[in-house]
Amino acid sequence: MASTDWISDAYEALRTFRDEKLTELAHRVVNDSDAAFDFVRRGIREVEDIREYEGSFEIPRLFTQIVSYVSNDRLPELARLAVERSELGPSEPASQLIREIALQAPQAFQGLHRQLFDLLWLHPDVQVAAPDDFGGTYIWQAGLDWFDWASPFEGCSQEVVEFLQSKAASPDRLERFKALWCLLESSRPDVLVKTAQALAPLTSEPPLLENRHGIRARCYRKSVEDLLHARGYGLTSEGNLRRLFEPANLALIELDADSQKQPTIWPHPSERIAAADIVGHSSTGGAVAGATCGLCGGPLTMLLELGELPKSLWSRGPSRLAICIDCIEIAQHVLSYRHHVDGSLASLDHADLAIEPEFGRRPPYDAKPLTVVRTNPRWKHSGHMKNQLGGLPEYSQLPEYPKCQSCDREMEFLLQLDCDVGGRTWFAYPSGTAFAFWCAECSISAWIAQP
Ligand SMILES: [Zn+2]
Ligand SMILES: [Zn+2]
Repeated sequence: MASTDWISDAYEALRTFRDEKLTELAHRVVNDSDAAFDFVRRGIREVEDIREYEGSFEIPRLFTQIVSYVSNDRLPELARLAVERSELGPSEPASQLIREIALQAPQAFQGLHRQLFDLLWLHPDVQVAAPDDFGGTYIWQAGLDWFDWASPFEGCSQEVVEFLQSKAASPDRLERFKALWCLLESSRPDVLVKTAQALAPLTSEPPLLENRHGIRARCYRKSVEDLLHARGYGLTSEGNLRRLFEPANLALIELDADSQKQPTIWPHPSERIAAADIVGHSSTGGAVAGATCGLCGGPLTMLLELGELPKSLWSRGPSRLAICIDCIEIAQHVLSYRHHVDGSLASLDHADLAIEPEFGRRPPYDAKPLTVVRTNPRWKHSGHMKNQLGGLPEYSQLPEYPKCQSCDREMEFLLQLDCDVGGRTWFAYPSGTAFAFWCAECSISAWIAQP
């Protein structure tokens, strides 16, 4: 059989939902990165066709996920193909491919930024209105869209920065707007403050921005602070840039729970934990002796006992973090705790009359082990790595960094924990993530949750 016949076979199986062939496809791409590359390289057009079939919603997503098995050195070619396909006109699979590669390895777009810029590239917060064939306008969400934390411009070269800066001086407001947004998403500390200051006044719901082709855009209002927060930065009181996260690649994994899971036919590469990736042991759950919630008077739950970690990998924050699981996000948006030298904790929240928790009172859950693993930066946004230590927080709502109860400075992000860590949902909502922050000067931790 010719080496590419299996690809035709696999796409035919996707068209006709032949499950046994899909299992074969999975086995092939999961174990052979060249096969994954061949399958995706061939696929944009094929998937565009399949998309027209009823009930095939999952197929473009599956197509995009297979990028995860492609080796780093072959991603630039897929990035180029996706950009070239987008230049011919809107293509959802191509757009999704760009987004997926941008999430995993933005450096794969080296040499493609000018083309990307010319494609009508705008942020998902931006609504674009273009003239339609009948003389009216239609609202068009940009063809190439991605999330706050996915950008092919992230970490781009000085040459690309200069190109964007020249575009940012354009008399065309929309062009200027696009250039500034790309500069912001470069996350380069040397340009962030000036970019955010120039971009903030251009963000507003009317007036719309309009370019010479009659294409108009509007963006929800963002302050300089909002724009910087989206890239994990804030301003000091002197107006200097301050990074609000530690760029670590560490995750907290429930290895025990993983070993009991049914093996899937699409095991994500991030699920293959090698012994060398394990850098520490930690736990979640259990009661906190001698500390109660200042709002409801109930016990605190130990959300994390970090254990020993190599100092070169992690030296931030306290080794124990606790919260009131009945009050977080329910009674008050930010919960704060002072950490004493002896390791004890005290709630800094206060209610004159003890609050009765809206969803009842639950005892702290039993302690469960967590394993700290070093992660590949490509998987920082994959579901398996959702309990992250350091790195840029992955907010499901607007990015926010609470201010320290004591000194009023923005606090540094420490870690995020999914609500079902520890084998039970500790959060009152069925899904959500809690984010922990730290003020080193005051030894105060703070938590927010986003349902
Ligand atoms: Zn409470
Ligand atoms: Zn402080």
